[in-house]
Amino acid sequence: MSDDWYVEDYRGEFRVGLRVKEWLHRGESEYQKIDVFDSEVFGRVLALDGVLNASERAEFFYHEMLVHPAMVTAAAARRVLIIGGGDGGTAREVLRHPTVEEVVMVEIDGAVVDACRRHLGAIGSAWEDPRLELIIGDGAAYVAREELAPFDVILLDGTDPEGPGEVLYENYFYSQCRARLAPGGVFAIQSASPFLMREVFLRAQRRLRAVFADVRPYFGPAPLYCSGLWSWTHCSAGVDPLAADPARIEAIEPGCDYYNREIHRAAFAVPNFLRRELAGLG
Ligand code: SAM
Repeated sequence: MSDDWYVEDYRGEFRVGLRVKEWLHRGESEYQKIDVFDSEVFGRVLALDGVLNASERAEFFYHEMLVHPAMVTAAAARRVLIIGGGDGGTAREVLRHPTVEEVVMVEIDGAVVDACRRHLGAIGSAWEDPRLELIIGDGAAYVAREELAPFDVILLDGTDPEGPGEVLYENYFYSQCRARLAPGGVFAIQSASPFLMREVFLRAQRRLRAVFADVRPYFGPAPLYCSGLWSWTHCSAGVDPLAADPARIEAIEPGCDYYNREIHRAAFAVPNFLRRELAGLG
């Protein structure tokens, strides 16, 4: 048994560690440190700049919750943009919706995609799907292009707001995403841990409210991430996240490990400690 541990350190105050069974990749790209290793509890794991990002066993919690609430509530779900998402899990979930015709994924770091295709094939099983167009580039620069045809759904699957992911947490970026949405479109983001990273979560809510008419955070477990409780946010101009189309949920539900109709409704319930803080945002 190896004595090697992968430890995520949160601001020098809190650590989460996994015993490394085997190192599969250790490298550094132009943008970040990229590690992939095998572990007993979570299977193969991707970590970026010291932060645990995705694991074979627990990725479904995160990817299903980022993707499906937006996909089943947007007026249409034909043309989808993913920003980030280099492990491929978000694209895989999007492509399970039978209405999807075109998915553009803009990931800044080709080295993440290469490492994940090589070692985390179980997560990104959609790379060969002809509906997927992968662009290696900055998602913020991409959405600033005015000539883009509108998207029904835009999903932000970025890293935390430090390093290359920082621009993806700014008002300007959010307003560019709003401008690229089709009528009835939905923009959904991962919005960090509302418990451990409360300021990051609240700042994102405040900024999103400045740009989108309807901003609805929702919650669920993410067992690999520091603190476990995670949040995502559903943003639109008048799309009620609780008015999901049951036929669209039915089409994907049997293939999900976490998401279903009941989870969809329950996830939008706001815990009291956050209700008060959200009311205080005005
Ligand atoms: N599930 C993960 C989490 O929240 O911990 C995030 C997964 S995904 C691997 C995040 C990806 O966003 C990374 O591959 C990173 O390279 C990419 N990324 C960061 N900044 C970006 C940007 N400005 N444009 C496009 N992709 C970006």
